[in-house]
Amino acid sequence: MENRFQAFLIKYAEIGCKGKNRYIFEDALVKQIRHALKPVDGQFTVSKESGRIYVNCEGEYDYEETITALKRVFGIVGICPLVQIDDNGFEDLKEQVVAYMDRTYPDKNITFKVVARRARKNYPVDSMTMNALLGEAILQAFPEISVDVHEPDVFLNVEIRNRINIYSEIIPGPGGMPVGTAGKAMLLLSGGIDSPVAGYMVAKRGVKLDAVYFHAPPYTSERAKQKVVDLARRVARYSGPIQLHVINFTDIQLYIYEKCPHEELTIIMRRYMMRIAETIAKENECLGLITGESIGQVASQTMQSLAATNEVCTLPVFRPVIAFDKQDIVDISVKIDTYETSVLPYEDCCTIFVAKHPVTKPNVNVIRKNERKLEENIDELVKIALETDEKIWVEAD
Ligand code: ATP
Ligand code: MG
Repeated sequence: MENRFQAFLIKYAEIGCKGKNRYIFEDALVKQIRHALKPVDGQFTVSKESGRIYVNCEGEYDYEETITALKRVFGIVGICPLVQIDDNGFEDLKEQVVAYMDRTYPDKNITFKVVARRARKNYPVDSMTMNALLGEAILQAFPEISVDVHEPDVFLNVEIRNRINIYSEIIPGPGGMPVGTAGKAMLLLSGGIDSPVAGYMVAKRGVKLDAVYFHAPPYTSERAKQKVVDLARRVARYSGPIQLHVINFTDIQLYIYEKCPHEELTIIMRRYMMRIAETIAKENECLGLITGESIGQVASQTMQSLAATNEVCTLPVFRPVIAFDKQDIVDISVKIDTYETSVLPYEDCCTIFVAKHPVTKPNVNVIRKNERKLEENIDELVKIALETDEKIWVEAD
């Protein structure tokens, strides 16, 4: 079956794309759209024409898949499916416009307004006249329909270019900024619900993602690691490919377990995760770290614990879900399709070495003092952990 729509007009927000930076924003958006459409059934060309972005579909393509893919491209605020017709004179255009309205709005109990534009000024009818004549033709064809020039239900756009575009529907996009317009950050990705959402949120502002996962075999299984890879794949649907670093954290964890008070295990472990993440981040041109921490969610996320964890970092640490209730985070994870993977039961390394009564108000001076008990071997263990870095290039699934 031939597709009804031959192209899509991509609407994007003007924020951040003023003046001479505009092309950076647009080029990044074009690149991300091309990338998102690669796995979709069909042949697409993405083009930038006089300040607008079009996706042209050559021949047959999968409409649903195309929309799904475009809805994941940050920077897009609206997707308008276009009916494109050849210019066969104004009488033909009238007929086509009436046919478009008939097919698009089976219920004619609506108000509309025609918005005609001549991008090609040699077209014999000017836009004001087109508005009037096309409106009249629609009114004549459908008695129930009416015009409302102030707040119509439907804006019927008719654009005269080399071909003629007819459109009225706007499918909402995700908003945000195109990935690649705001540098890169290192996501601390665990198998939980929060960190994939945190990565998604920062990527939505145009930031490219690398990720690091601290693996503690045999205390954490291969399946737990695979779960993190699967989560990264889901996030990559939005953020583009993610370089995932898997760090073997077992010896550090065991050493902390051996030397430090058990109620401080989690905090000290988190401090080492942050230190190592920061080292890898700096080696990979990341400008910040991202975590899924949220105030008060667990003992290691009280204000005091966050301060103790934060203290070891020099890069900014972005915590986009810091003030979110769990349910709000869950809602996003459901929306972005990470939830069902996140709730699979495979343990992550934090659940193995948790104390019965972890400190909830750690004193940074006490933590520092106890960390000194690690002095003898910790630098070497960190160095070895960094050498275990298994790099996995994760593409969207
Ligand atoms: P999540 O749902 O993201 O796992 P959580 O509520 O389980 O979070 P914690 O386990 O305290 O919280 O972890 C807090 C944050 O630390 C996580 O959101 C994540 O960014 C990071 N983190 C925790 N464990 C790991 C790990 N094994 N590898 C990488 N990052 C981790
Ligand atoms: Mg966790």
